[in-house]
Amino acid sequence: TQDSGANPPAEVAPPGVNINVPHSARMYDYWLGGKDNFAVDRAVAEAIVQAIPGMRYMAGENRKFVHRAARDLVAKEGVRQFLDIGTGIPTRPNLHEIAQQLAPEARVVYVDNDPIVLVHARALMISTEQGRSEYISADIREPQSILRDPVLAETLDLTQPVGLTMIAILMLLSDADDPWALVAELRDAMPSGSLLAITHPTGDFNPEEMGQAVAAATGAGMTLVARTRDEVQRFFGDWEMLDPGLVPVSSWRPDEPVANPEAAYYWAGVARKP
Ligand code: SAH
Repeated sequence: TQDSGANPPAEVAPPGVNINVPHSARMYDYWLGGKDNFAVDRAVAEAIVQAIPGMRYMAGENRKFVHRAARDLVAKEGVRQFLDIGTGIPTRPNLHEIAQQLAPEARVVYVDNDPIVLVHARALMISTEQGRSEYISADIREPQSILRDPVLAETLDLTQPVGLTMIAILMLLSDADDPWALVAELRDAMPSGSLLAITHPTGDFNPEEMGQAVAAATGAGMTLVARTRDEVQRFFGDWEMLDPGLVPVSSWRPDEPVANPEAAYYWAGVARKP
């Protein structure tokens, strides 16, 4: 049928998915060029692009960090199992695909609290035969709901090092949620030799643009908190930072030299549990 163009087709929400309020997973999907987003998400995502013209580039740089960090954790650190909290809508290659390409036996447990990510969970669970990829629908604000989920113990061996990844999620928790205590609880449940990878947006490189982005999100009823380098460093507790430390996301072991590492306003780092 021909679309007259007068009225865009009404958007249909999968069951359980609320398309009247913006969701971070869907906004991030929009910046990455995905199709799993709705008008309400695009409106706020575009308002943030108005504030930060490089937002799509930043989202891409964040995603590239996932590739490099997963690769190094598997290839250089010998990690064979991951707990990924704040997974997002599937974006290929997903974490388990990167890990299993290097180590087919790698196991991944994904965690997210957004119903739209749950809708896509099957795509996240297509694993190699030797490995495993599972999904837990849970909220990081209740770490025990993750740690006590039977799927976690069935999939990961918590006596062996775990790659704990919290990529572009902690900015969605307000200081009132005490994200440092939540992350500490998760760190404490991991065995020695585990590795923690975090990325987090910051106002440190461009306070004005980041301030406007936070205002746009807050005005739309979302929680979005930019944090300083010190605040992000505290998420790692006493774990030992791997080289090159907590750095702009584009500078973390880049594949090619980066002209302006501070063009993507995220801190990124990986640390090892002593
Ligand atoms: N880690 C992915 C996606 C980041 S988008 C990447 O960097 O590519 C942030 C994700 O965190 C979204 O999917 C959102 O649904 C999830 N999230 C936000 N708050 C959460 C919470 N309280 N508990 C669990 N997941 C949450």
